[in-house]
Amino acid sequence: MFATTTLRLATRSRSTAAAMSTARRGLQVLHTVEAVRAVRGATRANGQTLALVPTMGALHDGHLALMATAKQHADVVASSIFVNPAQFAPHEDLDQYPRTLPADVTALTEQGVVSAVFAPTAAEMYPSGITTNVAEQRGTFVSVAGLSHQLEGEIRPHFFRGVATVVAKLLGAVQPDVVVFGQKDAQQCVVVRRMITDLLLPVTMIVAPTVREADGLAMSSRNRYLSPAERAVAPALSAGLLAAQTAFEQGEKRRDALLAIVDRELRAVDTKGEVKVEYVSIASATDLAEVSGEIGPDGAIMSAAVRLGSTRLIDNVLLGTTL
Ligand code: AMP
Repeated sequence: MFATTTLRLATRSRSTAAAMSTARRGLQVLHTVEAVRAVRGATRANGQTLALVPTMGALHDGHLALMATAKQHADVVASSIFVNPAQFAPHEDLDQYPRTLPADVTALTEQGVVSAVFAPTAAEMYPSGITTNVAEQRGTFVSVAGLSHQLEGEIRPHFFRGVATVVAKLLGAVQPDVVVFGQKDAQQCVVVRRMITDLLLPVTMIVAPTVREADGLAMSSRNRYLSPAERAVAPALSAGLLAAQTAFEQGEKRRDALLAIVDRELRAVDTKGEVKVEYVSIASATDLAEVSGEIGPDGAIMSAAVRLGSTRLIDNVLLGTTL
């Protein structure tokens, strides 16, 4: 019924074959804007609503939880899998970022929630071309001023420009009624929500809670880079944040006291000092301004980034606020 291309991969591994057969069983894998628009058109013609879950692939249970949340808010769920060059700096891991489309298609097929995967090429998404070198970029980009330079944006200055741009493009390509993001990337939620508001985009944004491993570590596609020794100490980050959240819920509102709890709990797990803290922030969910003194009635986002060997981990908890 729809224009669908099959996966074209030079080497047909067993997982590739599995992905192709599952694609035939119902999950459509679409590579062009034209094809995904056909899906959108069909759902609209059927009177069905459509939710989009944008991802960069290498799917884990955190992503699958977003698909399930999406299904609660729309009749049909589509997911995009696109490793977006514009949110990587030239020195970052664009080439190394895991690309596991056959396994992702298998996972989505087994879950049975998603009807269509939009997996475009960079050329499809960036008709003017794309390079990670910002000075050489041409064409249209979306910047969300005031929310993109602090926290993650301080270390990765062009990251949120890349994120906002690709989300705007995905919303234009797929035209969903609902778009779902994970709380795991809290600043991304703040930036995208502001973009949707400012650009008057006709889509409802849903934020789903962070899915964690049994020991508290937030699931992430980058966790696979951790050595066994690093993986053992990685829960230090979530231990610190979750302890501070518990203290907040028990009445502790003082910034300094909450930061001290993060530090103490993190070091209790990381006894050898392997976790290098980049930042711990307690900031307004509206403008990302750091809270001074005590957290007020609007609450705050407590977020942190650490380095563990060559892997960078981020996590956050919400202190009396929503995203
Ligand atoms: P990514 O592929 O890493 O860009 O993530 C795609 C979406 O999944 C984003 O909205 C992320 O915030 C979300 N996500 C990633 N990890 C988790 C997690 N552990 N729990 C919930 N959502 C997540």
